Amino acid sequence: MLNKLKYHYLIVGSGLFGATFAHLAKQKGKRCLVIDKRPHLGGNVYCENIEGINVHKYGAHIFHTSNKEVWNFVNSIVPFNRYTNSPVANYHGELYNLPFNMNTFNKLWNVKTPEEAKAKIEEQKAEAVAMLNGREPQNLEEQALTLVGKDIFEKLIREYTEKQWGRKCTELPAFIIRRLPVRMVFDNNYFNDPYQGIPIGGYNKLVEGLLNGVETKTSVDFFNSEYRNWRKYAEKLVYTGAIDEYFDYKLGKLDWRTVSFKLRVEQTPNYQGNAVVNYTSHDVPYTRVIEHKHFESFGADVYTNPQTVVSEEYSSEYRDGMEPYYPVNDERNNALAKSYRTLAADEKDVIFGGRLAEYKYYDMAPVIEKVMNYSNI
Ligand SMILES: Cc1cc2nc3c(=O)[nH]c(=O)nc-3n(C[C@H](O)[C@H](O)[C@H](O)COP(=O)(O)OP(=O)(O)OC[C@H]3O[C@@H](n4cnc5c(N)ncnc54)[C@H](O)[C@@H]3O)c2cc1C
Repeated sequence: MLNKLKYHYLIVGSGLFGATFAHLAKQKGKRCLVIDKRPHLGGNVYCENIEGINVHKYGAHIFHTSNKEVWNFVNSIVPFNRYTNSPVANYHGELYNLPFNMNTFNKLWNVKTPEEAKAKIEEQKAEAVAMLNGREPQNLEEQALTLVGKDIFEKLIREYTEKQWGRKCTELPAFIIRRLPVRMVFDNNYFNDPYQGIPIGGYNKLVEGLLNGVETKTSVDFFNSEYRNWRKYAEKLVYTGAIDEYFDYKLGKLDWRTVSFKLRVEQTPNYQGNAVVNYTSHDVPYTRVIEHKHFESFGADVYTNPQTVVSEEYSSEYRDGMEPYYPVNDERNNALAKSYRTLAADEKDVIFGGRLAEYKYYDMAPVIEKVMNYSNI
């Protein structure tokens, strides 16, 4: 049977799931064809080079993991730099370090010790609990106030969250925010993972390395191509596109949230001094401004390019034709995704994987880890 077929695997989608799968399958001597409907490889980690800067076309991507095996694997494809995510929040022109830590508390209240910061937070949390008068928090606003108090909530959470969700915090469910970690140390490193960074030379190098020696075709939509009839070509299908589309939306359409980007080139070598600045007030419509060069240039190196590329991020409802970014974890969508997964489990010789096919938010490292854990590629 196999001798007549050209490929062991037809892989739909060249994002990190498809590319890692192809890489590991090739190592095991399997022949793969990777197709992608976009005009480029790499899925959402693809970068576009603008004025000599790698621009994260589908949103800022910072690789972070606690899994040493995954870290060693990606570094064996391309070495990673030492980028450390340390976002800054801009609230009406006042700048605060994130995540909430001693630098943030010092700026908010001029406190200098962890004891003073803790006392301030506890005092404000107690005010919020007293307001509830014995009842449980009914919405995100009440929940956040009981977790961190009013100053942090009002300056750094409320309006940012409202921009992200397009709804008032009083209209959002409390469960969205289960924990709001506060750090009683002067540490602006956003992630707790021991390993983080950006591939040296950008994410395209990682994807090129993963797909080195693998046959690929871009601008080919699985559903509008000869490969729809994949059994003619391959033993197995690895499908990383949207699960509802695979089943021709026969149970209904899954909802997504999306982000749109406004990109511009600034004639200055250093626009905001940091890769990520969150805008936490309603006076600006966007949620974040990303200055892409800071993912890969550090210290004096920032000034070697006299220009810089920045993108504003706007959260919005998903409509047909937009990029599906974040699954909507409400009752309707969770139930619908479950029904599609049941259908998927019955598809013979098809592996559904990645964020679109599983209808699940995944960071990059867990996607790679998942592929590495497939025992019988
Ligand atoms: C805005 C945003 C920011 C993120 N930031 C981070 C971050 O900072 N750190 C982090 O670890 N993770 C981040 N992620 C998550 C990261 O993007 C995902 O983990 C990763 O993209 C998952 O890879 P994937 O292969 O599952 O999906 P994708 O990268 O989306 O790849 C799927 C591919 O399938 C192709 N495809 C779909 N349908 C078809 C079809 N019918 N025919 C052919 N091809 C098809 C698509 O074109 C796409 O290229 C972020 C995600 C988003 C949305």
